[in-house]
Amino acid sequence: MKERLYLFDTTLRDGAQTNGVDFTLADKVAIAQMLDAFGLDYIEGGYPGANPTDTQLFSDPRKLDARFTAFGMTRRPGRSLSNDPGIAALLEAEADAICFVAKAWDYHVRVALETTPEENLASIRDSVRAAKARGREVLVDCEHFFDGYKASADYALACARAAYEEGARWVVLCDTNGGTLPHEVEAIVGEVAKKIPGDHIGIHAHNDTEQAVANSLAAVRAGARQIQGTINGLGERCGNANLVSIIPTLKLKPEFAEKFEIGISDAKLKNLAHLSHTLDEMLNRAPDRHAPYVGVSAFATKAGIHASAIVKEPATYEHVDPETVGNRRRLLVSDQSGRSNLLAELERIGIAVEKEDPRLVRLLDEVKEREALGYAYEAADASFELLARRTLGAVPDYFNVERFDVNVEQRYNAVGKRVTVSMAVVKVKVGSETLISAAEGDGPVHALDLALRKDLGKYQQYIEGLDLTDYRVRILNAGTEAVTRVLIESQDETGERWTTVGVSSNIIDASFQALMDSIVYKLVRSGAPA
Ligand SMILES: [Zn+2]
Repeated sequence: MKERLYLFDTTLRDGAQTNGVDFTLADKVAIAQMLDAFGLDYIEGGYPGANPTDTQLFSDPRKLDARFTAFGMTRRPGRSLSNDPGIAALLEAEADAICFVAKAWDYHVRVALETTPEENLASIRDSVRAAKARGREVLVDCEHFFDGYKASADYALACARAAYEEGARWVVLCDTNGGTLPHEVEAIVGEVAKKIPGDHIGIHAHNDTEQAVANSLAAVRAGARQIQGTINGLGERCGNANLVSIIPTLKLKPEFAEKFEIGISDAKLKNLAHLSHTLDEMLNRAPDRHAPYVGVSAFATKAGIHASAIVKEPATYEHVDPETVGNRRRLLVSDQSGRSNLLAELERIGIAVEKEDPRLVRLLDEVKEREALGYAYEAADASFELLARRTLGAVPDYFNVERFDVNVEQRYNAVGKRVTVSMAVVKVKVGSETLISAAEGDGPVHALDLALRKDLGKYQQYIEGLDLTDYRVRILNAGTEAVTRVLIESQDETGERWTTVGVSSNIIDASFQALMDSIVYKLVRSGAPA
């Protein structure tokens, strides 16, 4: 019999504290449904009463399998329950569970709360009792628990016990400022577990020493049975514990997998990379290429000698099978790459070629030459695929851009404000048809992209769902002159993402190459006829 570990997601509450993240009501509803479908046990939606979005979120039942949780403060010191609007908002919220945040550090009780240690304990007990009486499952986040424990273990424990003894389902130990180290977490949680059963203890870690994941696992080793965290480690400052790293570790590492089970099935785990990238997309952020388990580079290998070994025996170079988390192995084609890299990569993208095919040598030379000029094919998988298909003679000439013109104009607008406007005109030949499109954009590249994709005649239907999701520019010193490298990330209606590259001494020209590759790649992938 395995023990059950519970996962508590606070992306919508603590994660919403991230700099630059601002969830709308619709975002919150969509993300809650996505997290629910993934199999998380608790979804903390927000702080009803604190802002209109969260109040509205909790005004209707959300009908999730997960326990939808409202967050708020314990009863204010010196007030009665019935005279505390914060408590009223929490009790009225359409939520399955209520998570109270309570002070657990006597210093904070005196200085921040300006009350007595006894009144703080009474506030914890009263709040838990009131929420239970309303039929809610109750959690108590003990704020600054670890710092509080170091300063005054008795008082920190008294807060935790007050919550537990009053009937809170979970007493959550919070490393609020994120500075506690894993061995300290393990020792302190171990002490708490002597007073409160581990299956009532949760851990809430922040990432200020980049150990929020390690701290969460250390707490589990010491007896805690609920882990709080966020998708992609969202959260203020350095973020919260990243559930996207914790979940596969619990599922795939024997130390945890043999002892514990979680609510996420093996089949659901395969959606992990997709879940992580979808949230980034909603937040308009480029996914972290180096994110453990789910990043594009997480299972990427560069050197030629490793590549031939990986093809023979993948397990030798991978700590888990990338497919289990919905990722895949990537063998990078770069100037260090050998023939085995190239063959493996071609096989993966479905290009059949004989080992002794002379075109292979030509392709390898071409890649090396272009990389010397500044192209980066290991980052631009789609441009690599096009180069390979072209060298092997398999990319049709769908259309031809006969000329383009981009201009940038600065002028005063109708209200006398100085504005910069860019306009692009593109002349494209599709078969025997000549098409001219013009577009205005925020900048020259934006205008060029819009004009280019405005009318491709019979191919237009294939690129309707195409979107640019990221644009990166780097100035390189290749040879004697500085050149510009542009990497463009695109996405289509199916959620597939690809990256293309362009290099030139002119930034518009480099962007044009990358845009063209992106469009042609999409046409190839869609099976557009020649
Ligand atoms: Zn927090």
